Amino acid sequence: MKKIQLHWQILIALILGIIYGLTLSDYTQYVAWMGDLFLRALKMVIVPLILSSIISGVTNIGNAGNLGRLGFKTMSYYLTTSLLAIVTGLFFVNIIRPGVGADLGFSKTVEGLDAARNSFGDTLLNIIPTNIFTAFTEGQMLSIIFFALLFGFFITRIEGKYQIMLTDFFNATFEVMMKITMFIIKFTPLGILGIVAQQVAETSDLMDVAGRMGLYMLAVLLGLAVHAGITLPVLLKLVGKVNPIKHLKAMTTPLLTAFSTSSSNATLPLTMEAVEHNSGVSNKVTSFTLPLGATINMDGTALYECVAAMFIAQAYGVELGFLQQAIVVMTALLASIGAAGIPMAGLVMMTVILSAVGLPLEGVGLILAVDRILDMCRTTINVWSDSCGAVIIANSEGENLKV
Ligand code: ASP
Repeated sequence: MKKIQLHWQILIALILGIIYGLTLSDYTQYVAWMGDLFLRALKMVIVPLILSSIISGVTNIGNAGNLGRLGFKTMSYYLTTSLLAIVTGLFFVNIIRPGVGADLGFSKTVEGLDAARNSFGDTLLNIIPTNIFTAFTEGQMLSIIFFALLFGFFITRIEGKYQIMLTDFFNATFEVMMKITMFIIKFTPLGILGIVAQQVAETSDLMDVAGRMGLYMLAVLLGLAVHAGITLPVLLKLVGKVNPIKHLKAMTTPLLTAFSTSSSNATLPLTMEAVEHNSGVSNKVTSFTLPLGATINMDGTALYECVAAMFIAQAYGVELGFLQQAIVVMTALLASIGAAGIPMAGLVMMTVILSAVGLPLEGVGLILAVDRILDMCRTTINVWSDSCGAVIIANSEGENLKV
C-alpha cells in the first residue's frame, strides 16, 4: 500500500478531530491524551533544540562580520514584514470599522491584566538572565537565545583545541535533537487529532459568538489573508527568487501544526525540519533565524494586535487620530516582539497597546470569546513568515534552494 504523505495524514486528522469534537464532545478524554503527549514531547525538545541550534549556528557562521551581516538581514526582514502586516491590518480595520456599534454587553472579565501590563518592561530587562538555569527551566526564550548567541560567539574566540571540541559537541547535540524531532513529527497526526477534538468540544458555542463578532473576525482574517497570500509571496518571489507555491507545499506540516497548536514555539522543531529538508535552506541559516523568528517575528500577531486595539477603540466610541494610530502601530510591533510563542500570548500583550493609547484594559474582555480561533490563524501566519524569512535570507547568502 502506498504510504499517505504526512501532510495529508495531518489534514485528515484535523478533519476527524473536528468531527469527533462536534459529535462526541463528552468523550474527548479518550483522544485528548494523544494531544497532551504530543505537546509535551514538542515542549521537551524546544529548549535543548534552541540552545544547540543557535550555538551551532553561530559557531558555523564563523566570524563576527558574517554574524553581523546575517543578524542585520534577519532583523531587517522581521521588522519590515511585521510593519507591513500591521499596516495591512490598519487598512482593513479602518475600512470595515467592525467596532462601531459592537455589542459591549458581550464583554467578559479577564484576570491579571494589570500585572501583564507591568511586566512588559520586565520582559525587555529579562532578556539578560540573572540565572541561566532559571531561564532554561522556565522556558524564557529571549534569555535563552541571548545566552546562546553569546556562548556561540565566544566559542569562536577561544583557543583552537577547545573551540573544535565545543563546536563538535554542539553540532552533535543539535543533530541528535533534530533526530528526536523527526521521530516526534511522525506522531503529529495523532497529536493533532487529540488537540483539535478537545478544542472543538470546548468551543462548541463558537458559532453563536462568531456571528456576533463577525466583522471583527473578518477584518483580522482578511488582513492575515492578504499578508500571507500576497505580501509575503511577492517578497518570496522578488527578493527570495523562489516559487511561493512550492515553498508553501514544503511547509504544509508545520503550518497545519501551528494552526492546531496555536504555538510558534511548539511548532519550531517542525518548522526547522521542513525549512531545512524540504525547502533546502542550509543549517547555518535555519538554526540562526528560525529560533529567533519563533520568538520575535510574529506578523500575524502584530496585525491582530493592531486590528484588535482599533476595534476596542471603536467599540468604546473613542476616535483615534493619526498620531494615536501611529502609536498603535508602534506598540503593536513591540507587543508582537514581546509576545511569547505560546497560545493566547498576543491577547495578554494587548494591554501594552491599550495602556499606550489610554483605552480601558477591560477592552480585552471584548475580544476574548473569539480569540482562540484567531490565535490559530495568526500563529499560522507567524510561522509562515518565519519560514519565508529563512528562505529569503538563504537566497541572499547565495544558497541553492530546493523550492
Ligand atoms: N500564539 C501565538 C504564537 O505562538 C502568539 C499569539 O498569541 O499571538 O505565535
